[in-house]
Amino acid sequence: MPTRNIVYESLVLRARESPGGDRILCLMTAESGIQDVFVFGGPKSKLRSLASPYSSGRAFVYLDPSRDFRKLSDFEVNESFTGLREGLKKIWAAGLVAEFLLKTNGGGGDFPEVLELSRAAMRGLESCRDEEADYPLLLYLWRMIDLLGLLPETESCSACGLPFPPGAERLYSFAAGGFLCPACARAEESGRSGENGSREGESRGWGGGRSLAEFPSYLLSAGAARWLSRSAALSFAEASSVGLDAASLAGLKALVFGLARGAADAPLASLSVGVGIL
Ligand SMILES: [Zn+2]
Repeated sequence: MPTRNIVYESLVLRARESPGGDRILCLMTAESGIQDVFVFGGPKSKLRSLASPYSSGRAFVYLDPSRDFRKLSDFEVNESFTGLREGLKKIWAAGLVAEFLLKTNGGGGDFPEVLELSRAAMRGLESCRDEEADYPLLLYLWRMIDLLGLLPETESCSACGLPFPPGAERLYSFAAGGFLCPACARAEESGRSGENGSREGESRGWGGGRSLAEFPSYLLSAGAARWLSRSAALSFAEASSVGLDAASLAGLKALVFGLARGAADAPLASLSVGVGIL
């Protein structure tokens, strides 16, 4: 098979050393999803410094199909995202973006859109203040989960179909795989705890019974729910400026990170490392 040269629109996700001491870059590409390429040259080589996480631009790659071997021959940087290094939380969030892309195999298939969304997230992370880095990250994961077709219905109960009142807090059940109204959440909990699961005489809908705050493990506050519905129309920069109170943000993170783990179908190391920084 003949060798050939390929140009990828790309974002550098990771760099690692091969057992032989060569550098291997992992790229998110618009053309072929995740691609590993070798970079030759010493630690001070220009190409090696240009093509490092999280540079974005055109990667010129030499391909030998008979050996399934790809070598980076040049990298034309459009955006270097060096501002991501200015804060611990930004670095951590960018790392989670990269890890999510790797574990979902480039977001499942619509690679040009995934690449554009990932670059937009990096721009949002670079331009926000370090303490705001949660917002671009949450927005990115939420949109990626949507692209993967795994976004839950947020406006009605997944068990009985009852629409949620506008601006109401709501519960997400990972066991049920969706948002639940209070009656269905109670029924689910009594079913799980082995208590009497009968719904006889139980009124459906809102009001009465236990308060939603008694189900804190998957409570999405009214503020968090509003942020999610508004965020669909917001840019990454705008989404950062809509601050949430600490409890709303914590609930939103528990939900979105939980969904992200499910979408990746694997633990996300960044999330366990990041606990101390959150
Ligand atoms: Zn229900």
